[in-house]
Amino acid sequence: MIWNKEMECADREVMRDLQLKRLQEEVKYEYENVPYYAEKMDKAGVKPEDIRTLEDIALLPFITKEDIADNYPTGLFAQPMENIIRIQSSSGTTGKPKIIGYTQRDMEDWGEAVARGLAMCGATAGDVVHVAYGYGLFTGGLGAHAGAETIGATVLPMSSGNTARQIAFMQDMKSSIICCTPSYALTIAEAVEREGVDPEKLSVKAGLFGAEPWTKSMRGKIEKGLGLKAHDIYGLTEITGPGVSISCDENNGMHINEDLFYPEIVDPETLKPLPIGETGELVFTTLRKQGVPMIRYRTRDICRLMDDKCPCGRTTVRMDRVLGRTDDMLIVKGVNVFPSQVEIVIGKFRELTLNYKLIVDRVGNSDTIELMVEFAEGLIIDDIDFVEHMRKKVEHALRETLQIGCKVRFLNAGTLPRSEGKAVRVEDRRRFE
Ligand code: ADP
Ligand code: ZN
Repeated sequence: MIWNKEMECADREVMRDLQLKRLQEEVKYEYENVPYYAEKMDKAGVKPEDIRTLEDIALLPFITKEDIADNYPTGLFAQPMENIIRIQSSSGTTGKPKIIGYTQRDMEDWGEAVARGLAMCGATAGDVVHVAYGYGLFTGGLGAHAGAETIGATVLPMSSGNTARQIAFMQDMKSSIICCTPSYALTIAEAVEREGVDPEKLSVKAGLFGAEPWTKSMRGKIEKGLGLKAHDIYGLTEITGPGVSISCDENNGMHINEDLFYPEIVDPETLKPLPIGETGELVFTTLRKQGVPMIRYRTRDICRLMDDKCPCGRTTVRMDRVLGRTDDMLIVKGVNVFPSQVEIVIGKFRELTLNYKLIVDRVGNSDTIELMVEFAEGLIIDDIDFVEHMRKKVEHALRETLQIGCKVRFLNAGTLPRSEGKAVRVEDRRRFE
């Protein structure tokens, strides 16, 4: 089902006209209400009136994570606190938390953005939406919640954790749509199997999973383990939270809510805009934000845009699966390594689970990288020949993908701690003085 045909299926020209109009308003609003950004624009020698076409956005300065940190906590707010009805904050994966304030209309827009994603999952007022993202300052829980309320579905505000209770509610309350991080969905799927619950007997038909990168094989395991169709939802606190983009039934990238968020891809080194289809750093401009508008916000996420026609009928530009973020990109022996690349390799081996951890260290002057990964349930590490055979195969596959050697250590199923929110995949023990 398409929640908002007018916005999601607009003619490209109509959408671009709307985006330009909103961009002009947003830039003027930012210039008049956020002195820090006005100063940046003055320094760059650009005035709001200079934005005459969408391409003129390239004249504007970027906002970076450092700008947000420098203005901590509320220096980038464009409204006085009496007009701010909600505060959320980034989960703090990297650095200082980022504090974002929402006006009433911002909250409505956020609910609308997520509602479109829930509708892609087939949600209607008759559905029971089970929200197992964490509630609180993290945008996952309350973002999914806002979308479900906009649809008028029945919301189960479970929050994350207590997996046995999650499964009991899924059964007793007949949850039909579940929202959580993909790594927590996998944790729930494992518990479902362990408890001997038949996934086909669960009422859940679709899931909206996001807040962290995940791979195709992870998707396959979640779909099978919970008996549902998985959709990918992307977002970040600075821009609004989940709902910036969501994948439809076609599962070929995430439709960006382009009437609310304007995407660009730039070369992370030169910061020059790249043509559609090329991979680079994703940059977003909010087009209707009142609380904390963001002009050309550098997300650090590595991705590409797609504008070919989607069979679902939506006309919005899509973004591909996020490869990783520049700040979780590891540089090992001078080579760029994303945890998601390792996950793709692991996903190819039936003998392994997707529970893994990468340990990066430095011995002498040389970097080392080690993968700890669990064997599938039922496989016990006591056949030395089998383990050696597996080690050779996995190490070979990793070398092919990463272009550097990575040692592999196998663990028995269930050894590594399970994720209830965003999974922590990397432990970097190197110290750079
Ligand atoms: P933090 O930066 O502290 O993790 P957020 O909770 O706002 O704060 O997380 C936003 C980030 O999470 C995004 O910039 C992106 O890196 C990642 N992310 C969110 N959704 C997805 C998704 N569907 N796929 C891949 N990465 C995602
Ligand atoms: Zn589509």
